[in-house]
Amino acid sequence: MYLIDLGIRDTVAAALFDLGVDLGAIEDIEEDPGLGNGGLGRLAACYLDSMAAEELAGHGCGLRYRYGFFEQGIVRGRQIEVPDDWLKTGFIYEFRRPDEAVEVRFGGTVSLELNGKLRYRLENYEAVQAVPYDVPVTGYLSDTVNTLRLWSAEPSRTEFVCSAENRNDCLKTIEYKNDVETITSVLYPDDSTHEGRVLRLKQHYFLTSASLQGILAGLGRRGIPIENLPDHIAIHINDTHPALAIPELMRLLLDEHGLGWDEAWRLTVATLSYTNHTILPEALEKWPVDIFQGLLPRLYIIVNEINERFCCELWQRYPGDWDRIRAMAVLADGMVHMAHLAIVGSHSVNGVAQLHTHILKERVMNNFYRFYPDRFTNKTNGVTHRRWLIKANPQLSDLIADTVGPDWVRFPCDMLRLLPHADDPSLQERLAAVRRYHKGKLAAYIRDTTGIRLDLDAIFDTQVKRIHGYKRQTLNALHILHLYNRLKADPGMELTPRVFMFGGKAAPAYHQAKRTIRLITALAELINNDKTIGDKLKVVFLENYNVSVAELLMPATDVSEQIPAASREACGTSNMKFIMNGSVIIGTLDGGNIEIRKAVGEENIVTFGLTAEEVLAYYERGGYDPWDIYRGDERVRTVLEQLVSGFLPADPDEFRPLYDAFLHHGDQYFVLKDFAPYVAAQKEIERLYRDRRRWLGMCLRNIAHSGKFSGDRTFTEYAIDIWKLRPAAPVRCYCSADDAFARAENGCSLSARFGMDIETAPPQFN
Ligand SMILES: *Cc1c(COP(=O)(O)O)cnc(C)c1O
Repeated sequence: MYLIDLGIRDTVAAALFDLGVDLGAIEDIEEDPGLGNGGLGRLAACYLDSMAAEELAGHGCGLRYRYGFFEQGIVRGRQIEVPDDWLKTGFIYEFRRPDEAVEVRFGGTVSLELNGKLRYRLENYEAVQAVPYDVPVTGYLSDTVNTLRLWSAEPSRTEFVCSAENRNDCLKTIEYKNDVETITSVLYPDDSTHEGRVLRLKQHYFLTSASLQGILAGLGRRGIPIENLPDHIAIHINDTHPALAIPELMRLLLDEHGLGWDEAWRLTVATLSYTNHTILPEALEKWPVDIFQGLLPRLYIIVNEINERFCCELWQRYPGDWDRIRAMAVLADGMVHMAHLAIVGSHSVNGVAQLHTHILKERVMNNFYRFYPDRFTNKTNGVTHRRWLIKANPQLSDLIADTVGPDWVRFPCDMLRLLPHADDPSLQERLAAVRRYHKGKLAAYIRDTTGIRLDLDAIFDTQVKRIHGYKRQTLNALHILHLYNRLKADPGMELTPRVFMFGGKAAPAYHQAKRTIRLITALAELINNDKTIGDKLKVVFLENYNVSVAELLMPATDVSEQIPAASREACGTSNMKFIMNGSVIIGTLDGGNIEIRKAVGEENIVTFGLTAEEVLAYYERGGYDPWDIYRGDERVRTVLEQLVSGFLPADPDEFRPLYDAFLHHGDQYFVLKDFAPYVAAQKEIERLYRDRRRWLGMCLRNIAHSGKFSGDRTFTEYAIDIWKLRPAAPVRCYCSADDAFARAENGCSLSARFGMDIETAPPQFN
């Protein structure tokens, strides 16, 4: 990316070529820093890229995990987890900054001291050094270099000394050293379930305390008075994992800077903003009070005070309405509710797609929305087209530039100018050639890694994302089994050859997700080895899905599977990466899919299934009866019985828990309920694909409308609406100013507003 950002990748590649070195091979050696779990972490990386490209001074804070997200192996059809030793050969882009290290304190006891003024003091705590490693974040052809600061936990020199006389001290020192190193040793491999372990809370605090101390130290160095904090700094908390930033900033302002509560609270709320990324109940973080208080005694006092004051406000507004107050409290039922804390302590709360924000406002956080109506906004996710299009698919990028001119790179909405050419056969054939090139490249990778040979004329159908019940890889799998049954029953059946590809990691303790992988690999074994099926159907599970694998898949995919149970996927981002590369989505009306459908037009996407309203209504009624479907749909009955009858080349007991989840535990993700509409939608995909002109026109229209889903648009929205950020250099409008049509019709008006602000008014900055 650095070479692309500097605009010298081609030059460097040519120079290396002269030396007999392939730049691509060097790039392949570089490991992805696997410091995130999936969509949430990847989104942060996309936004850092957008901020640097947009010349905004936006920095990232994270943990420098010694072992990143585990590497997945597939052995005899099952997932195995291998530690991701990403630092074993060093990471050349990081700079260790011991001069900016800070101390983070855990445990201890709090006492009050009266020294002219009443102050809290923490004693007998465990001190840990937080040492920053800075990674430069460059922007595409921009002069801005931002920083991703990754904190590493190291023993504090003052903590224990190991002397020859005192063996006991030595043992303690070793124990302490191990404890400290554990804090940044591994990434928790799941953020869709709440992990209530002390180490995780330790990580949360380590990240937030170190980052805030670093930020305030920087402010001090610039001589800025603490009272002006929100005028200079905006701190955004990405989901609730860093929500401890609220009490921690209060602590620093109260205890270190000597401010009073009211002033400290005003500054805290004005500085912090929060993005909610999920409504899955199991992912909403809650910490037992005893754990919280033991690890963070001073913060607990502050959280308690925040809660008391907030509940008083609620009481004044809703006198006597105890149920409501309890439902909104930060501390209730012996738990600290992190999402509540995040809303109370931020001036802005946003969801990540229109539907998701709507559900937050009207349902999940409705109480809070009524209390703070102005805090809630929507910021639909976006992804960086520089990585997902320019880097992943340079051939398509060139084709776009040939058609609409080179400016689309800086103004991705310029891709709308492809629309008048969408039915042009010569452009369509050039696109088809680019797509075929990538399908060939992917097929070679799959042949080399799995031995499976693919027909490039087949429909390449891909579902890549974390393996999770709500994402419904199971629905895809049951449909494949059904297709196989149809082919066996009627070998002459007309069917465009199809390759179903899956990729994704299952959280190590999430057994249903692991069984889902086993189901897919069993299907692959059954179908790929069936001579009577030949090339008509293939099933591939791609090992170790990560950013590099994603870059290979996006440009080579014809059909992108975006099929979550409606209302469960807040937005999704792979849907956006796929349409940029010209894939057509088969999807449910959920999250970002809805906005993609609105942008590309309903004739250029295939949607099916229950709506979010319907799903939510079922949840309110306690679900639906899957036996109705089982009895009424023979296709469903057949595939379900095949799971447990020994039909698949795997232990039949293996899939019993999946079978039970569908039939005996209420099918909570509506797989059976959506089965029939999904089968019909898949038939529609077939029909559309067979009409080559029609299909290529759809691909081009998806690409044309994808500019709206660039992270640059999202970031501009965050910058203007939430952070009131002033760009380091004049911000460019991400739609070209002369493309009035594009701006008016396609939601680029916000950027136009940004452009206008620059021209007609001084930047908002207060
Ligand atoms: C984009 C991306 C994701 C998120 O995919 P969704 O389909 O939106 O869940 C996960 N993992 C990787 C490696 C990605 O690039």
